[in-house]
Amino acid sequence: MEKIIDGKAFAERLRADVGTKVAALKARDGVVPGLAVVLVGEDPASQVYVRNKGKQTVEVGMQSFEHKLPDTTSQEDLMQLIDQLNGDDSVHGILVQLPLPKQIDEKSVINRINPDKDVDGFHLDNVGRLSIGEEGIVPCTPLGCLMMIKDQLGDLSGKHAVIVGRSNIVGKPVAALLLQENCTVVITHSRTVNLEEECRRADILVAAVGRAEMVKGDWVKPGATVIDVGINRIETDEGKTRLVGDVDFASVEPVAGKITPVPGGVGPMTIACLLHNTLQQACRINNVAVPE
Ligand code: NDP
Repeated sequence: MEKIIDGKAFAERLRADVGTKVAALKARDGVVPGLAVVLVGEDPASQVYVRNKGKQTVEVGMQSFEHKLPDTTSQEDLMQLIDQLNGDDSVHGILVQLPLPKQIDEKSVINRINPDKDVDGFHLDNVGRLSIGEEGIVPCTPLGCLMMIKDQLGDLSGKHAVIVGRSNIVGKPVAALLLQENCTVVITHSRTVNLEEECRRADILVAAVGRAEMVKGDWVKPGATVIDVGINRIETDEGKTRLVGDVDFASVEPVAGKITPVPGGVGPMTIACLLHNTLQQACRINNVAVPE
């Protein structure tokens, strides 16, 4: 097996699989999964994400509904749109692109989404389900990490997993998923004492920090599986910018057993998992089995 985990190829396979199942669902039950993406404001990065999501949604045969609202949108108007999408039978997934403008309370908006349509897995119901190990919707980036780790390592029982970062959208859900897989999980953060030592104990090291190239080669146990969630833009000596992860790839790659690159590692899995979640929910909402 290759040392470098090819997230781009993995995501392509997952999207192809979703596409096949979407076609089968349509033929068998007449159901076409629909994903609604809501963008408030003009943030350039968010616009790119939303465009990519819409394009990939259509490519797998689903319906894509894009709602672009001005950055002056009130909380009430956004809530009304969520209510409308909650009641729309052609919509099986609702994603509100974050961050939202400051006049809008993100938590209230996310928790207004019908939990069965919360394909980002951020609604309190789904967060609670994940934390007690009940079936629910798992956030996309953590799900992508888990799929790649399981694909590489198979049974994870007893493995020592160290997560760097405790955010609600990455660190904590990744930890919950690995705990469910019977790993021994350590969650580290900015107040952790001896971070490097904690990392060196990891069979599975997941970095979700948002600090460019922070994890160095001598923090990593030889042979460990290293998953780099970070996306950081840094300036090069030539005055250009380039994307790097939270892991210093040059020093970690020779030590690790497996490693995800940036770009081309975790990143591409996020939208693929969003489409996967939307298919699952279209089947659940219509009370039919996911096609084989
Ligand atoms: P947050 O900023 O929400 O959380 C960062 C976490 O890292 C916090 O828990 C923080 O600790 C911890 N941290 C910060 N500095 C240190 C340090 N010096 N030592 C140890 N821990 C530290 O980030 P996110 O979880 O949202 O994102 C993390 C990275 O993943 C970012 O680069 C982001 O761009 C990327 N990302 C990529 C996605 C993808 O699709 N591939 C999706 C989502 C995120 P504390 O809690 O103590 O402050």
